[in-house]
Amino acid sequence: TYVIALPCVDLMDKACVDECPVDCIYEGDRMLYVQPDECIDCGACEPVCPVEAIYYEDDLPAELSMYTAVNAGFFTAI
Ligand code: SF4
Repeated sequence: TYVIALPCVDLMDKACVDECPVDCIYEGDRMLYVQPDECIDCGACEPVCPVEAIYYEDDLPAELSMYTAVNAGFFTAI
């Protein structure tokens, strides 16, 4: 799955939302989140993010690795 990380917080440009063919990017209070069970790993969202907040999960830098759980957690909490 792709993961949205820290640069999205309080920005939420939403360019990625329009690119996602399966509409699996959802809006929270302070950032956007990828629903991991719905993401088809197409990668369309990654290049359009103006702040490069989106990573394939295995490519997350170590300091952002917690965002895999942050994205998934948004959907288990609701
Ligand atoms: Fe949507 Fe594709 Fe990005 Fe997954 S990789 S969130 S399916 S645009």
